[in-house]
Amino acid sequence: MFSNLKQQPADKILALIQAFREDPRENKIDLGVGVYKNAQGQTPIMRAVKAAERKLWEEETTKTYVTLAGDAAFSDTMISLVLGDAVARDRVAAVATPGGTGAVRQAFELVQMANPDARVFVSDPTWPNHLSILKHLGIETVTYRYFDTETCGVDFGAMMADLDQVKAGDLVLLHGCCHNPTGANLNLMQWQQVVDLLNAKGAVPMIDIAYQGFGDGLDKDAAATRLVAANCPEALIAASCSKNFGIYRERTGLLMAVAQEKGLHGVMQGNLAYLSRQNYSFPPDHGGKLVSIVLSDDVLRADWQVELEEVRQGMLALREQLADELRRLSGSDRFGFLAQHRGMFSRLGASPDKVERLRAEHGIYMVGDSRMNIAGLNSRTVPVLAQAIIDVGI
Ligand code: PMP
Repeated sequence: MFSNLKQQPADKILALIQAFREDPRENKIDLGVGVYKNAQGQTPIMRAVKAAERKLWEEETTKTYVTLAGDAAFSDTMISLVLGDAVARDRVAAVATPGGTGAVRQAFELVQMANPDARVFVSDPTWPNHLSILKHLGIETVTYRYFDTETCGVDFGAMMADLDQVKAGDLVLLHGCCHNPTGANLNLMQWQQVVDLLNAKGAVPMIDIAYQGFGDGLDKDAAATRLVAANCPEALIAASCSKNFGIYRERTGLLMAVAQEKGLHGVMQGNLAYLSRQNYSFPPDHGGKLVSIVLSDDVLRADWQVELEEVRQGMLALREQLADELRRLSGSDRFGFLAQHRGMFSRLGASPDKVERLRAEHGIYMVGDSRMNIAGLNSRTVPVLAQAIIDVGI
């Protein structure tokens, strides 16, 4: 039986991590992996999370199963963090999931159960895992144009033209903030136009929000998600706590399903619990507990926000420094988009051979599509990267 298995394509980002590890050059720079790193290149445990772990260790009295939907305190605190008061709580069904990835997968499965003919529209480009999960589930995928290679911003006209093809019952996947891999985002006026179009067509939006707090701040980063949830009759929202709480390996995410129709809440909640049961029964609990402890304790929450804000400001400062350095070296404003992009990533807009030259000649590692992790830089390496970008002729 097992001889029927074919080799799976290697994950490009994991292969890049391996190549970086094996590179003996001391001044190599890793801009590949999608993990936040501080100026010392570490991914620290946030202070409030550490304090919550201590509290949990002292106070937790049992490790028996939680419910299929996970801990209610986690859902409640996360729903208010993401949605604020944009929608009434009784319109939102929610389940804890293993990471944002689990939420994404379960959202697609829910759509497949609700409408087997649904097509899923995804931005070109999008997080590669969106595409591979959709392919694995056998769901038809349609891409809509998103990234403008000339300006390195969003090609909104092309995006709207492509979204005009959606039909009632299709799902449209949008990144709530900090688009991965490009760093280019819609403004709120453009979001409103997307909402109007989807409502006119009867298509359902799905928001993947994995970087709340990494772009313009906790509330501003959630503004588009709230706009969608408040103005669309139905929406799916997959949230990840991996980045903003720095709890990657704890696998902590939440899938929210919003419906306007009264009475659907129970059915949706039941279907989400059913899917958990089929996939893994009970979601992991440790990360969710940490999140709910932090969010419901005024002191810990304030400290978490301070630390998250330092992370955000640090990345913004690196963006500014890089854009300034490149302005000076290139004598032009063509890299100004780096300071406009938000989140951990920016797509530089370089060809694969230039990306390869950065690696071979300068020991600078970024993903082949020229996505770089801004948090992989520090104030000392920014000028090194800027010079290398100019040297290879980007
Ligand atoms: N969505 C997007 C767009 C992401 O970038 C990520 C993290 N790479 C996720 C979802 C899910 O992350 P996790 O499963 O680690 O929470």
